[in-house]
Amino acid sequence: MAVRDDELPYLRRCVELAAEALEAGDEPFGSVLVSGDGTVLAEDHNRVASGDRTRHPEFELARWAAAHMTPEERAAATVYTSGEHCPMCAAAHAWVGLGRIVYVASSEQLTSWLTELGAAAPPVRPLPVSAIAPEVTVDGPVPELTDAIAALHRRFHRQGD
Ligand SMILES: [Zn+2]
Repeated sequence: MAVRDDELPYLRRCVELAAEALEAGDEPFGSVLVSGDGTVLAEDHNRVASGDRTRHPEFELARWAAAHMTPEERAAATVYTSGEHCPMCAAAHAWVGLGRIVYVASSEQLTSWLTELGAAAPPVRPLPVSAIAPEVTVDGPVPELTDAIAALHRRFHRQGD
């Protein structure tokens, strides 16, 4: 499945949420949960600066979906996200039975940017969603928006210089 033009607003919102995370001193990641009929149900951004490094938006949205949606609604929903789900979030997404994932930047792209920026390697291997949750339909990257996300990561990792 390709990313449709009418899905770009959700992805732009993910970029905005990632920018909000950066403004709040956090790593720039943002995600939006959209129902099968196109309604935005929930959104979040990274909150790991709190000290809890599991506070990824995709993980929060998976738990929100488990608490507020039927299994059928979850299967019909899409999670849009600025960066491809990490293995923890991909597992949570699959465990709660959510539907498709659309990401702006892949884990592979993020890894190459972070390596270039000299960032410390993450404690969890950055595997693609397909390696963790093979039944989930995944689309991305979205070239129109990847530069915007790359720029946010550059800003985050240069703050400490
Ligand atoms: Zn994650």
